[in-house]
Amino acid sequence: MSAISGSSPARVAIGGILHETHTFMEGKTTLADFAAQSLHYGEDLLSSLRQSRSGIGGMIDRALEYNWQLLPTLYAAALPAGTVTEQAYRKLLSELRSRLARHKPLDGVLLALHGAMVAEGALDVEADIVAQARAIVGDAVPIVVLLDMHGNISPRLVELIDVLLAYDTNPHTDAYARGVDAAETMARLLRREAQPTAALARPAMLLPAQSTGTEAAPLASVHARAAEIRADADVLSIAVMAGFAYADTPFAGPSIIVTTDNEPALAATYAEELSKIVFEQRNKALGQFLSPNEAVSLAKRQERGPVILVDSADNIGGGTTGDGAEALAAMLAQDVREGTIVLADPEAVECCWRAGVWAEVTLDVGGKVDDWHGEAVTVAGVVRAISDGVFECELPDNHFASFYGDTVHMGRCVWLRAEGVNILLTERKTPPLDLAQLRHIGILPEAQSMIVVKSAVAWRAAYMPIAAAVIEMDTPGLCSANLSRFPYQHVNRPVFPLD
Ligand SMILES: [Zn+2]
Repeated sequence: MSAISGSSPARVAIGGILHETHTFMEGKTTLADFAAQSLHYGEDLLSSLRQSRSGIGGMIDRALEYNWQLLPTLYAAALPAGTVTEQAYRKLLSELRSRLARHKPLDGVLLALHGAMVAEGALDVEADIVAQARAIVGDAVPIVVLLDMHGNISPRLVELIDVLLAYDTNPHTDAYARGVDAAETMARLLRREAQPTAALARPAMLLPAQSTGTEAAPLASVHARAAEIRADADVLSIAVMAGFAYADTPFAGPSIIVTTDNEPALAATYAEELSKIVFEQRNKALGQFLSPNEAVSLAKRQERGPVILVDSADNIGGGTTGDGAEALAAMLAQDVREGTIVLADPEAVECCWRAGVWAEVTLDVGGKVDDWHGEAVTVAGVVRAISDGVFECELPDNHFASFYGDTVHMGRCVWLRAEGVNILLTERKTPPLDLAQLRHIGILPEAQSMIVVKSAVAWRAAYMPIAAAVIEMDTPGLCSANLSRFPYQHVNRPVFPLD
């Protein structure tokens, strides 16, 4: 480590590689997927990401206030999807290595990582990334890492890092603030004010994504206790990790990392205590999910509608297909009047467009893209309307606007009516972000007895204002809260709720 004097600013390298990998998804995540989202090398990293509301944005802004010589490596982030290709992973790692080597001598390294990234042939990606950095900078240079709280943490990762921090909120509203914390932690280490020692504790369980909100059980009470522990002056950092159950690795699941100032026993005691709080609430973390048949039958008994049937397993925002049709089958079987479902099915759209408005058609809808979202359902119905699938959002502050714009394009659409059930067929999968999605083609949301929404949480903005009741369904899908649906190979067993 080079000496820090008053005259020469500290040389701190900065970078990030972030991906939340759903290892059960068939498609791979390539370098093009990173390039389409966020991929910055060298100085472009600083100019593009300073003052951004991200974790690395907070790191950069605080580091510049310290007048450090900030040495950018690379920043790569892609949307949640399948395993990262070996080619993309190798390229990102070699860029990090060569740029770190070029910046030597270094006084510190700041990294923003996700924690749940998996690449072909690499189950402990974040530990590999930090190990490469460690090999270049040596043991004496502090490495401070900020993680997404959905990261899965290995003991090796904790050993390689000096101080590990994580977001404290889900939805992640504090990424920037934690980035600032990471830079402030680095400042303490550069001043040699602290000697970090960390402890990792993990309850033997997995949390489905639906149960990782920080305002609800089990994480809310963990954070409440963590806030008290942070008052202890010996505690440098507490990371409460929910883990990401859809990344099948030996480290999948929640974990607690407590870092103290040279108090290893204290770190272990606190980490175990917090881990126990998570495990004791494991049953609360399971949620109540009804089969589509039970859900439809319960919805039929409600006095008024619309009852919202939540299909969170086919959560389009989480990367699923949007063509799961089990709830449709249940509505047809129970002769539902004014039930509505939206299905992404370009083949069925084409078939109905060719038949024309008021044509009677019999066709298979849904269940076509992969084997994860159930079977296709054969439907006999009438084409009530067709549209170009363009609508303006009714909601003023629709957070989907950042992805879809205020004008949403679903591709060509069809309103297919089968008995009393309204099926909106779309060419492009589109989350239930706005009631205009249904209204634009003539389906009146308020007049429905039940509406299926393919989303975990995001549907609430548009549909809660009209919802008479909400029922969560246990449907097939890659974002299912029913983890027993997934063919785990690498997760540490026994683990709750699988065993
Ligand atoms: Zn996350």
